[in-house]
Amino acid sequence: MEVLYKSTRGNGETVTASQAILKGLSDDGGLFVPTSIPALDVPMEKLAAMSYQEVAYEVMSRFLTDFTEDELKNCIANAYDAKFDTEEIAPLTKADGVYYLELFHGATIAFKDMALSILPHLMTTAAKKNGVKNEIVILTATSGDTGKAAMAGFADVPGTRIIVFYPKNGVSPIQEKQMVTQKGKNTHVVAIHGNFDDAQTGVKKMFNDKELGKELADKGFQFSSANSINIGRLVPQVVYYVYAYANLVKNGEIADGEKINVTVPTGNFGNILAAFYAKQMGLPIAKLICASNENKVLFDFFRTGVYDRNRDFILTTSPSMDILISSNLERLIYRIAGNSEAADRELMQDLAKDGKYEITDAMKKELADFYGNYASEQETADAIAKLYSDTGYVIDTHTAVAAAVYGKYREETYDETKTVIASTASPYKFTSSVLAAIAPEYDTLPVLEQVDKLSALANTEIPRAIEEIRTAPVLHTTECDVDQMPETVRAFLK
Ligand SMILES: *Cc1c(COP(=O)(O)O)cnc(C)c1O
Repeated sequence: MEVLYKSTRGNGETVTASQAILKGLSDDGGLFVPTSIPALDVPMEKLAAMSYQEVAYEVMSRFLTDFTEDELKNCIANAYDAKFDTEEIAPLTKADGVYYLELFHGATIAFKDMALSILPHLMTTAAKKNGVKNEIVILTATSGDTGKAAMAGFADVPGTRIIVFYPKNGVSPIQEKQMVTQKGKNTHVVAIHGNFDDAQTGVKKMFNDKELGKELADKGFQFSSANSINIGRLVPQVVYYVYAYANLVKNGEIADGEKINVTVPTGNFGNILAAFYAKQMGLPIAKLICASNENKVLFDFFRTGVYDRNRDFILTTSPSMDILISSNLERLIYRIAGNSEAADRELMQDLAKDGKYEITDAMKKELADFYGNYASEQETADAIAKLYSDTGYVIDTHTAVAAAVYGKYREETYDETKTVIASTASPYKFTSSVLAAIAPEYDTLPVLEQVDKLSALANTEIPRAIEEIRTAPVLHTTECDVDQMPETVRAFLK
């Protein structure tokens, strides 16, 4: 069955999957959503016997119905290959009774790789299908992980350029080093004097700037987005929930059909929305546990029905979740409003104007599948330390936010349902914060020496991505103020 896409703020007009991927964001500022969520109509028994790549095809082909089998299989083969350091691509590790779904085995050792290693292939395929002649310019705001993962995906892909904006003082030292050493003639990185929300708002403004769009079109460029608002990011993320479930069945950890909970450390709401879509497809998921750090807008939203970004932006040890506007939440809002563009538009106008909105009681009822909570900085560090001392397994700060929140959920509900925690980054990506939790005596060491200590303590190999930055030269030094972002783009695209 053909699945089409329409804007959460549109007039019901539809586009194909490939068109939605090319555009990223709809012209009206809305996000593309599937007109219906396809059913996962493959027996679990079959999925359990499949490789990651095969599961990816089964899931993605249900959503991206205008891609041919060859096209999609090619994209998948190009994405999920030896860039990943394990054939399983997304392995599960059981520790302390929960299953950590390790989504950090790709090129940049964070979960963004899961989608961003395939997006460039989906996009160039989509361009070909739609007769696009322009060079595609990926504009991206990053809180640290997206930027590097997007550049790694797009570097030297013909017909594309990529420009990444990150908050100058809002990413980890290793994240920054990873970005400024990025190779590839078509890659550009800019540190902005502002926080992630400033970067994201600036990028959205450029997308909506018709004049800038026209000016660049005259030069043979067109913008697209690699941010998690692109459905080409969202769909590949549905895959690993299905794969994880199939793996649990295969290994006899759960019975076929048994419900599981999923806990997701959340920022822009992309990853957990993918889990929600997996549930809508028919995957037996009970609760979707949404974990926030001290920027707990989503926790407050789930409790009160009021989304309110008017608050201080807190820099935490889980920077990829330091977000006050969770863009992908709009897709859920649209859905719980009964797929209503009008209701969604109104709420998003409130958000733009007042920085907040309130959903109706009827909409609140539709959120029963979700549980939201947050972890403080101390609770996050404690979660890392406790799991390490109990099991020897080391998790990163983002995953630790999820582990801490899952602990709170258990205490509140006594729910014994087996649970998968999305493990979104390698501990090596946030070495300093992780060591501060398990071995504070190494606090003063240079970060790359800390990496060696972590390797010894965790008894795991240092990932290739870290080894590479030890010696890589800095290739990007551009900085700008938030209001100079369009000028900076113009300068790159001369
Ligand atoms: C991006 C990111 C998150 C948040 O994911 P969303 O899809 O934005 O909710 C969590 N952890 C890490 C390590 C990330 O890079």
